[in-house]
Amino acid sequence: MMPDLPDPPSRLAPPGVALKTDIVVIGGGQAGLSAAYHLKRAGLEGRTGFVLLDAASAPGGAWQFRWPTLTLSTVNRIHDLPGLPFSDVVAPGETHVQARVAVPRYFAAYERTFDLPVLRPVRVTLVTRHGGRFKVETDRGDFSARGLINATGTWETPYIPTYPGMERFRGQQLHTRDYHSAQAFAGRHVVVVGGGISALQLLDEVSQVTTTTWVTRRPPVFREGPFDAQAGHAAVALVEDRVRRGLPPASVVSVTGLPVTPAVDAMRARGVLRARPMFSDIVEDGVRWADGTRLHADVILWCTGFRSSLDHLAPLMLREPDAAGGIVMTGRLATQVAKDPRVHLVGYGPSASTIGANRAGRAAVSELLATLRAG
Ligand SMILES: Cc1cc2nc3c(=O)[nH]c(=O)nc-3n(C[C@H](O)[C@H](O)[C@H](O)COP(=O)(O)OP(=O)(O)OC[C@H]3O[C@@H](n4cnc5c(N)ncnc54)[C@H](O)[C@@H]3O)c2cc1C
Repeated sequence: MMPDLPDPPSRLAPPGVALKTDIVVIGGGQAGLSAAYHLKRAGLEGRTGFVLLDAASAPGGAWQFRWPTLTLSTVNRIHDLPGLPFSDVVAPGETHVQARVAVPRYFAAYERTFDLPVLRPVRVTLVTRHGGRFKVETDRGDFSARGLINATGTWETPYIPTYPGMERFRGQQLHTRDYHSAQAFAGRHVVVVGGGISALQLLDEVSQVTTTTWVTRRPPVFREGPFDAQAGHAAVALVEDRVRRGLPPASVVSVTGLPVTPAVDAMRARGVLRARPMFSDIVEDGVRWADGTRLHADVILWCTGFRSSLDHLAPLMLREPDAAGGIVMTGRLATQVAKDPRVHLVGYGPSASTIGANRAGRAAVSELLATLRAG
């Protein structure tokens, strides 16, 4: 007998009909929820005024997919969304709780508290211009909107650089996004690639259960001294400057340096923090440097970051045609697309942090509403 399968989510609009709303927010993470809160505060009605379309089947943005060992004590910091402190939902003592449990709990409470018009799971597949409006195509029907706030994050676009010989490697290759637990690598030699915070965190965990080699493109830069508000502003300003010039955003961490935490001190003492330069190619059973030195590897763990998930916006041609292929951003917090001011990108570039996403939501809403009012 066939097992009962859950009903597929129903269509929101019949084929050929586009549901009309003023603003579509795409993505239900920190950035999208902040934007939705400010749209509601500005007096827009749910459905006719705005909708938030989220591809995930439950609240939590990308946090619900993070690896199990990432807890509230190992994340950098989850900033409060406007109007509801995190500590009202997750008690300050719950530092041992997994981020992938605590943050979705907070986001779910947030959506309920402010009765936000979130529709999910709804994946936006393509956005096009259509008679002075945007046609937002989704896997459950189309929407027609006057303005867009895109908040799709980066989690769905993992980046792995290409190296010769990748396809002939007989071991396992995986990206940060696929990591679940260090135990899976016990007894195998793991090459950890990448110089960011995720690389460091996973190197820490994996090196406690097996042998590792750390490989980075540039020598890792550790930040001595505190990462205070002033240092944070300076880092964000550098990324903001890049996107205002139409360059692809660099990650905020790449300009802040790696924090020296007690875990980092312990790794140094264990001797696992000696970074080797990037290998030049991959062989059947390991990696090889330009001088011919080979290293046996069973696993290559690519902690090489993410790119902004913006493919659904491709028909809008927001990117510059030059080789850098970035998007020129403008507006108070650089959330507004210079080529089309009816499009805002939040959680992008300088706002790719929980605090940045929060502020970006507010700035994007006030500027987008002003643009739409001006006609
Ligand atoms: C491992 C890791 C740890 C981090 N730790 C911290 C930290 O401690 N503190 C901090 O401030 N920042 C941290 N960051 C950065 C932080 O996660 C982000 O800046 C912020 O949470 C992202 O929020 P967001 O709303 O931009 O995106 P996300 O949380 O990624 O949400 C995007 C949402 O958009 C949806 N979506 C994507 N594509 C579509 C589509 N086509 N149609 C509809 N919906 C779509 C997704 O399903 C998702 O729900 C971390 C990032 C990583 C990768």
